[in-house]
Amino acid sequence: MLPKLFLLAAAALVSVNAQSSSAAPSGSGFTFKETYPSGGSKPAPKPEWMDLLKNANITDAPVLKGGEDGPTQSGDADPYCDWTFTGCTRDDDIVACPKGQWGITYDDGPTEFSPKLYDFLDTTQQKATLFMIGGQVVAFPDLVTRAYKSNHEIAMHTWSHSYLTTETNEQIVAELMWTATAIKEVTGVTPRFYRPPYGDIDDRVRSIGHALGFTPVIWNHDTDDWKVAEDKSFDEKWIDGNATEWAKEAGTAATGGISLEHDLYQKTVDAAIRILPTLQKAYKVTTVGQCVGQPSYSDGGASNATSSASASASSSVAASASASAQSSSKPSDGSSDAVSPAGASSSSSSQNTESGASRTAISSAVLVLGASAAYMLI
Ligand SMILES: [Zn+2]
Repeated sequence: MLPKLFLLAAAALVSVNAQSSSAAPSGSGFTFKETYPSGGSKPAPKPEWMDLLKNANITDAPVLKGGEDGPTQSGDADPYCDWTFTGCTRDDDIVACPKGQWGITYDDGPTEFSPKLYDFLDTTQQKATLFMIGGQVVAFPDLVTRAYKSNHEIAMHTWSHSYLTTETNEQIVAELMWTATAIKEVTGVTPRFYRPPYGDIDDRVRSIGHALGFTPVIWNHDTDDWKVAEDKSFDEKWIDGNATEWAKEAGTAATGGISLEHDLYQKTVDAAIRILPTLQKAYKVTTVGQCVGQPSYSDGGASNATSSASASASSSVAASASASAQSSSKPSDGSSDAVSPAGASSSSSSQNTESGASRTAISSAVLVLGASAAYMLI
């Protein structure tokens, strides 16, 4: 049943993307100069983008085969720190906000349902991190502009919403850089944060993202909101129940949260609106960049970072936050339309070895996560 659900979800997204084209819809005030790949397609990179990898230390991990349930792994070993496989993370991964804080994120937009969410966020002056799909940016540039002007944090969710561990280095570069280019063309700024679809990331994907100047953001609380449109047996109130539980944990949890939600469907937007007040009462709800003290963009713009002091304070949840912030402190190239990656990585991913005890605990926890993560449209 679950694979079928995934296929339905994937079909729904393709359907959304099918409405995309390189031209903005009629009525849009925005005209793109760049010629973009069609929405939902797996694009090729511009040749010059591959030059950005030449001096970088790109992890030589295999390109995974994609199965019906997502990438196929063999055996139990996880030498390349595959998050959906074992829950493994590296120091540069942003997974949680510091204790007492909550990073609110919405994926897969912008869509026709986004304005209702944006309207609600405006009513409470709440700022969110929006992980946008490249083709949707090209289809709905006016919504991107609106979100940016409202000081939401604009971030990337790839071009085709594919499993990145199943893509070649060239394809991964294209997924990120085409999306960054579209966002840059609309907003004038280059996003730093990307969320791999399905949370599908390993060291090869990380090293490519790092070489391009981008930082991965995963999550530690999944609302399961994606199920509302696909699973007839899913009770929407479970989303509310999750948020209520997370609110209760605010005082005792070791860290804060980053939650996974979507502005992909009417029902997910409605759920997002219902649960936000619950989270706001229990946590300081912010963008991801704000809670970890990192800038939203690599070339200026309305940075959502709070301060460098905050970056230090949050180092327990984003261990190399300050290092990443430093590496992204590049001169502005606001006069250029080109995406401005931060250049070669300042250091390769640290080979952080988890203790046997914690690794076992994480693996057990992620057996559940992995089973669902493989099917969800996230
Ligand atoms: Zn997604």
